[in-house]
Formats: sequence, structure tokens, C-alpha cells
Amino acid sequence: MNKSYNALITIILGLLFSLTSFGFIDEEKPCGHAHQDVFLRDVAPTTEQQKIDIRYYSLNFDIDIATTSMTNEFLVELVVLDTSLEVIELDYSTDNSGVGNITVTNVLFDDDSVIFYHGNDLLRIPVVEKPGLGQRISVRIFSESGPANNHDDQGFNWDYESGRRAIWTNSQPYDARDWWPSVDYPRDKADSVDIVVTIDDYMTVASNGRLVSTLDHGDGSKTWHWHVGHPIATYLVSLSIYEFYEWGDIYVDANNDTLPIQFYTYSHPDNPYPSYMTANYRLLPDMIRLFESQFGPYPFMDEKYGHAEWGKSYGMEHQTLTSMGDPTERRVAHELAHMWFGDMITCYSYHHIWINEGFARYAEALWWEEHYGPAGYREKMKAFEYYGTGTIYVEDPETESIFGLSLSYNKPAWVLHMLRHMVGDETFFEILQTYAADPEFKYKTATTEQFQMVCEEITGLDLDNFFQQWIYGPGFPHYRAYRAQTGEDLLIQTIQSGIVFDMPVDFRITTTSSVIDTVLRINEQFMTFHFQIPPGEIVTGLVMDPDDWILKSTDYVIGVIEDEQVGPEYFELGQNYPNPFNPMTIIPYSLDKSGPVHISIVDVMGKEVVDLINSNQIRGHHKTSWNSLDQQGKAVEAGIYFCRLQAGIQTEIRKLLLVK
Ligand SMILES: [Zn+2]
Repeated sequence: MNKSYNALITIILGLLFSLTSFGFIDEEKPCGHAHQDVFLRDVAPTTEQQKIDIRYYSLNFDIDIATTSMTNEFLVELVVLDTSLEVIELDYSTDNSGVGNITVTNVLFDDDSVIFYHGNDLLRIPVVEKPGLGQRISVRIFSESGPANNHDDQGFNWDYESGRRAIWTNSQPYDARDWWPSVDYPRDKADSVDIVVTIDDYMTVASNGRLVSTLDHGDGSKTWHWHVGHPIATYLVSLSIYEFYEWGDIYVDANNDTLPIQFYTYSHPDNPYPSYMTANYRLLPDMIRLFESQFGPYPFMDEKYGHAEWGKSYGMEHQTLTSMGDPTERRVAHELAHMWFGDMITCYSYHHIWINEGFARYAEALWWEEHYGPAGYREKMKAFEYYGTGTIYVEDPETESIFGLSLSYNKPAWVLHMLRHMVGDETFFEILQTYAADPEFKYKTATTEQFQMVCEEITGLDLDNFFQQWIYGPGFPHYRAYRAQTGEDLLIQTIQSGIVFDMPVDFRITTTSSVIDTVLRINEQFMTFHFQIPPGEIVTGLVMDPDDWILKSTDYVIGVIEDEQVGPEYFELGQNYPNPFNPMTIIPYSLDKSGPVHISIVDVMGKEVVDLINSNQIRGHHKTSWNSLDQQGKAVEAGIYFCRLQAGIQTEIRKLLLVK
């Protein structure tokens, strides 16, 4: 039997989930885990970089495999945002990068050679004359690099696979600068990019966007031209070069539009390594179909999606062409989801990396739910539980790990899981789709606050507490629930130890013949609730959040909280709310000691209208309610009433106004 039996008080409290501000206590310092990121750099563009907006890059690489050297030509087009601009500053490594030493040989400013300075990983080009606001400037940069002296995993990599040369790039967070000049921060996306590579003709060059052309020069070399037609962050531009097996698939969407799916792999799909590669890659059309239904249209439908194998054992969501290591099913889903969250909408800065990684992590669970059912979803979320310290918000991307699995992936996936339950499935996916379609974010960037804004617009809720406590605050709620039954009255008390969270929490009360599910907003350190239990039934169990929708710890006590644990130090009948009201109002009160309590409503003539409480109660903050419609079927007349609270020799009275 599973009877949905909502006690009067609890249903009101559950529905009154309009979050008000409470002083969030940040008791722990932001995380201090080890420096995993050996490649950390500056976290913000320079002052001069903030005066320009990059619109377009053309990246031209002439690669000589024999000498591991390159001749490069780049075109950078930008718009002036601030006329005080004096120097165009582009992030561009000077030495020890994956391509070897870089020498800039010439810089052209509208076809004229200009003076430039290259040092400390910055290419500085003084502007020739004071620029106009909105002026479009083209800068052409020529450079040479090599020979490559090391293989450092970040930036540009001269690698080997099965004894043959393999080249691949890995530029997140700040390593595009290791192989091409740019404003290398996610916030400044180019509107489009051309990537042109000339290399030995037996190699296949895979990159972002759409393959425009290949040109065989007949001298053993070949030129590949890829065009990216959607905005792209610098760290998402990639190259993968090898004697690949090329194969693919096709996705057909609801409008009968087709999306090519292209794979560039080291092993043949009929004899894959690892053995599950081909089978997992073949899941992509179903995965795209699911994510389109949940997030909205695939963002690069006019280009492609695909995977290029590389020398790492993980994935990297390079736009339209994920670089794929160990191709597990979860990784294939994760990197695909990044096309919406990470690539189409990119974190504004690495403070907000959860906007990328938390969404992709959660998408793994969404795929598991689709493919393996609700139990699969639960299993995935269970695997993502994180009970450690630190905040999801990356306080200092210069010194902290940006890509810590616990705080940038797993706990953020739980934030989305919790949000989903709070607002319901329909609203949750409406949030994701609205966010993904919003022109303010689509093909642009977003912050925590901007995502919160979308959530609040869709739900009408004030979600400030939710995002503050879960994104900017550390930890998770520790709940202890007490229960004590007196006849038909079940007293439930909750204590939160440590940081006090504000969350709606599911409660499941089991009696000798019923299962009662209800929702209580738990937002104070000590809280007390009364439930009406059906006559003759004995409460046999109480569970908070029985279906694991909250990242939390719980334990349970049969009995009541000792007075000295709870407070308060005063006796008070609070003002009812709402007031005036019709038909229902909540009456808060505080008891400074345990004992018999009598709460009643009386009319202006002093005649008792209803007995609300007449029982022993414990010291603490309590709430009860009066439903003026619920008096044995009789509606009470509108007018002035009084609520009277008596406990021992203490009495307080408050005026209530019932309106028509
Ligand atoms: Zn990811």
C-alpha cells in the first residue's frame, strides 16, 4: 500500500517553497588540493586584450615531418572596443612549447610590415595610429618553429603511434598559444576560423568544422582546408594528423536533416582496439537523438560530429571533433554533450568550469537513464557522490586544479540532479532547452549567475540560496531526524549539524498500514513538525530523501531532541502568515520549555472556534496552521479572530484577519 497522505501542516510547508535569503555560513576555506595542473597561466586577458574583440583567425601550417619543423602564416581579424588601444597583444609562446622554439619572422598590419615584440609568451604589436571605435583591424603574422624538442602533452604534440608519426593538439585551458597566436581565453570566441595544413600526402588531417577542400600538390605534399563556421573558443581548436582509418555514420534528425558522423581511428572498425570502440561509436546517433530531445538541436548540424583518436587516455571535446582516448560508453556520451555545454555555450572563465563539465557529467547519467533505465541513472549518480571539502566555484584558477573530478564534474552533476527533483522533470528540461537556445548564451559564454537567472525565469523561484550553498559554499547537509508518536500525532524534529542548508526534502513515513510521502522545507538548524497519523496506525519508519535526490548524510533517532540541544530561550506566539488570509494561515510559535500546550482560535466574543493543539510539546520552534474551511465542513465567517497560545502559566494572544 502506498497512500499519499499529507498532513495539514506538512503540505503547506512543502508548497511554500519560496526561498528567502538566509545568512549562509562559509565555515570552510575553499579547497586546497594539490596542483594537478602543471600548465597554469594567467587567468584573465591583459588590459590591452580587453580592448579588442577577436572575430576571425586563419591558421596556416606547413608541416615538415622529417625535421619536425613548421612554417606558419596567421591572419587575425579583430574589432576595436576601446580607442585607448595602443598595442595588440596576442598570447603566443616563445620557447619550450610542443612545436619547439617559435620565431616570429614578420608581422603585417594592413599589408605593411610593422614593428613587434615577442617575449614572455606574448606577441605585442603596437598599433600604427589611434584606432577608431569599432574599427576592424587585420594582422598577418609569419612564424617558424622547430625542431620539436619535447612531447609535453599540452599544446602541440609530435607523438608516435605504432611507430608512426602522430600529431595532435590539446589546448585546454591556456595552450592554444603554444602553437598559434590568439587571445587565448574562453570569453573571446572568434566568429569563424579557417585551418589550413600542408603536410606529407600519406597523412590525414582532421580538424574542426567542415572540410572545404584537399589539394594534392603532386610533390608528395597535400593541403587540407577545414572551415569552422560557428563561434569557437581558442582551446577548442584542434588538429589530429595520422594515417587514420576514416569511417563514419550518419544521424538523421526529426526534420530529416542529416549530420555526418566522422571517425578517425588508429585501428580498423572491424578489428577495433579497444574491442568496444566500434560498438560504442555506433551509439552516437541514439545519443544525439536523446540529447536533442533534452537540450535542443545539435549545435553544429551544418558541419559534423566525430572522434579523432589521440595519444591520451581521456577525451577532449574539440568542437565537432572530439579527441578520443579510451572510448568507453560514458566518455562517448560525455564528450558529445559538451557540444551543447562547453562548446556551444562555454564557461566565461575557468572559475565557472562546472558550466561545462558538470553538465557533461550529468549527461552521462541522462544517457544511462535512457539506455539502462532508472536503475542505471541511480547507479551513475551514486558513482558521482562527493562528500569532501572545497567549492564547485574555482576560487583561483591560477593555483587550484580546474579539472578536479570531484568539484568540477561530480558534485556539479549532483547540483543538476537536485535541481531536477526540486523543479520536476518537465521544468528541468525546459530550463536546459531555454538556456541552450538563449541568444545571450548560444554560441557564446555563460557564468553561474547567468544559468541561475535562466532557472529563476523558468521556475519563478528565488534560487539564490540554492546556488550560493551548492556552487559557492562547501560541504553538504548532515541531517538527523527524531521521531516520536503520541496517538495520532507524529512529532518529527530535524537537526542539521555543520553548515545549514536550505532544501526541500522528501520524507517517507511508514506505518503499520500506510506509506506517507511528503515534502518539508528544511532550512534551519532545528525544526519541528507534526503529522497526523491515521487512527490506530503505528509509525514503524521514517526516511529522509528516500530516493537519493540530495547529496547528504542522514541518521535517525527514535525519541525527541533534549531541551538543552534545541533552545530557544523565550516563549513566543509569532504573527501568523499570510495575514489577512483565506482560507489557510500558518502560526509560528516558540516554547522555552517542554510541557502541555494549548493553542486555540477564538472569536471577538471570546468564544472558542477551534482547538488547534492540545498536547504535550517539547521546547523548540514550532508551526501549526488553521484552515478556516476545514471545521467539520462548515466555513467560518470572515472577520477578526484571535489565536491564543497557553503553556503552563504563560499566555500570548495575536489578532488574525480572515477575509472573504
Ligand atoms: Zn568534459
